[in-house]
Amino acid sequence: MRNTNISKKIIKWYDNNKRILPWRVKASNKKKQYFTLVSEFMLQQTQVKTVIPYFNEFILKIPDLESLSKIRNEKLMKCWEGLGYYSRARNLKNTAKKILKEFKGKLPDNEDDLKTLPGIGDYTSKAIMAIAYNKKIIPLDGNVERILKRTLYLKKEQEISKENLKKNKSFFGESNRASDYAQAIMEIGALICKPINPKCNECPIKKNCISFKKKDFHLTKINKAYNQKFFEIRLLKNKYKNYYLIKNHKFNFLKGMPILPMTEITKSKYENQVGKRISINISNMHMKIIMKKSKHVPYHNGLYVGINNLKNFTLPSFTKKLLNSVIRD
Ligand code: SF4
Repeated sequence: MRNTNISKKIIKWYDNNKRILPWRVKASNKKKQYFTLVSEFMLQQTQVKTVIPYFNEFILKIPDLESLSKIRNEKLMKCWEGLGYYSRARNLKNTAKKILKEFKGKLPDNEDDLKTLPGIGDYTSKAIMAIAYNKKIIPLDGNVERILKRTLYLKKEQEISKENLKKNKSFFGESNRASDYAQAIMEIGALICKPINPKCNECPIKKNCISFKKKDFHLTKINKAYNQKFFEIRLLKNKYKNYYLIKNHKFNFLKGMPILPMTEITKSKYENQVGKRISINISNMHMKIIMKKSKHVPYHNGLYVGINNLKNFTLPSFTKKLLNSVIRD
């Protein structure tokens, strides 16, 4: 089933079908490295089509590492507002500072140094090496995993483990156009080998695909531990119907961002209380939240936010979602 022509077929498809993305434009090496860094941070938890306008705006306002390292946090958060997972923005700024201080302003060109930068782990270091430095590496993202599972018909739990998928990346072989090749494989996963209804007739490697032969595209998933947590939120409203928000120093998610005053509670407390309930997924956590009215100001570092004036505040979508659910009542 392996075919030495796979890389040629994939590259040819990419040349004819790749999306025009703002971080793929022709640019100097320095700009390309910066574009790759910013886009990879944004893409860590967010889809390409959502990232595009944010990336354009970001690059316009913060065009290089120097300006990123000096930007005020409020302005940075305003640029990131709506993208979620705000720790990425803070890590990106700290990464810029560290590159300027410890790497003479040059994005490191080896995985070990890249991994010392805040917010860069195994996947992002590999993506940067492939995309910005044309190294023959294929980063294993969800798209690449899906293609491997389908082409090689990997179904069993041990077959679809990260370790086994990494080993099976050899299926793709390699290309001298390593940067394009890594992006091409991910692009096929995003546009052709979709999770549901893959467009096999347009796929350049359908002849190499066992799932296509068997007409079985079902994907097995590894059962992830269910991380469910319970919270109580206190809604404090003033006479102008504005709600009290505090700066989050307590929880690891949304650090430093405005949130409604909240406390983690036990499951039984959650179940035995009366109040409006809402469920939100955030940072691999399934949050079950109960909201209760309060007359007591819990902390004094907060501010009141006009509920009809939300767009003028830099608020995480988590907080907006909760406030919007209150408005609907
Ligand atoms: S032939 Fe279909 S299932 Fe196989 S890799 Fe291509 S799109 Fe995916």
